[in-house]
This record gives sequence, structure tokens and C-alpha cells, in this order.
Amino acid sequence: MKYFILFGPPGAGKGTQATSMVEKYNLRHISTGALLRKEIAAGSELGLKAKALIDAGSLVPDEIVEGMIESEFMTATDVAGFLLDGFPRNTAQAEDLDAILAKSGNEVTAVVSLMIPDETIRERIRHRAAIEGREDDASEETISNRIATYHGKTEPLINYYKKSGKYNEIDGLGTIEEVHDKIRELMDRF
Ligand code: AMP
Repeated sequence: MKYFILFGPPGAGKGTQATSMVEKYNLRHISTGALLRKEIAAGSELGLKAKALIDAGSLVPDEIVEGMIESEFMTATDVAGFLLDGFPRNTAQAEDLDAILAKSGNEVTAVVSLMIPDETIRERIRHRAAIEGREDDASEETISNRIATYHGKTEPLINYYKKSGKYNEIDGLGTIEEVHDKIRELMDRF
């Protein structure tokens, strides 16, 4: 099994690129954000717990997203691997992911990091708000908090994965097709 991590700030284009990546490489797409939004839509207890944190642009507790990831790993069949989108989001999640994978003799295959500058993050999120209607895209305050959360908690993972030689960075600027081609060139190596 291959375990790819699609990494990058909010608005980097992870969701957009994930769709074609999972098709081409027969991967199961696991977006913790999408799974959480599904729980909110279903009105579950977990969804209720997560909603306030998501609306504030903060991270939900590690054990919630890790539980989701583990159950996705267990229920996937007929795939060559997984594409993790939006997970891990902090060092504790990255360490726990390593431990979860080690239990079955696996490890992270590679990190594909889409990088865009902060000013582009806001533009992209504003654009997406008009199309997808995500509540956490609509408020400037929430967006600012998500950017701060990214820099404070998620960005340190770049060094975490550089140390293990798994980090690969791609310029996330350019057209969807241009970025897609660069990702394909990279993924073909694994
Ligand atoms: P996303 O769709 O990846 O932008 O995620 C939307 C929101 O869901 C984030 O701003 C967080 O509040 C929450 N979330 C998604 N993934 C995680 C994660 N791995 N850890 C904690 N919170 C997460």
C-alpha cells in the first residue's frame, strides 16, 4: 500500500488536484475536512463538536481525525493506496500516523506539497467561497485564523518530512493543468 500526503496551505488546490490523482493512481482520497463536513451535514454528535472549531478556523481534536483516518484505512479495498488530504495537520498527528502505519509494517510513501504565497491563499479562498459555499470560506476572520493555524501548527511538518526525506514541493501557482502535470511527473516516481 502506498500512502501519499497531499500537503499545503488552505486554498493551495489540494482538493482540486486530488480528484485526478486518485483516478490516475487508483488511490482512496481521504479528506478529513470533507469527512468532518459530512458529519456536520448529518447533524451527528461528532459534527456538532467539530462545527464550532471549524467555523473559528481552529483544528478539531487529534483523536477525532485520527479515528476517521483509521476507519478509512480499514474499510478500503481494491486500491493501490491512499491520498491523505488535510491530514496530518500538526506534529502530533504526523507522529501518530507513523505509529498507525508501522502497526501494519507500512510507512508514508511521499509528501506532495503544493505551495502558494499567503496573498494567493486569500484570493483562492474568496473565489472558492463563491463556488462551493463553505461556511469557513465566508468570513475574513475565519480565513485569517486558518492561515495563522497553518503557519503555527501545520507548517512545522515541512521540516518533519524533510528530515525523513519524504518531502517534495511543487509550485502551486499556475493553471490547474500545469500544476497537475508537475504532480504527475513527481508521483510517477513512486
Ligand atoms: P479542510 O477542508 O482541509 O480545509 O479542513 C476544514 C477544517 O476542518 C479545518 O480548518 C479544520 O478546522 C478541520 N480539519 C480538517 N482536517 C483536520 C485535521 N487533520 N486536524 C484537525 N482539524 C482538521
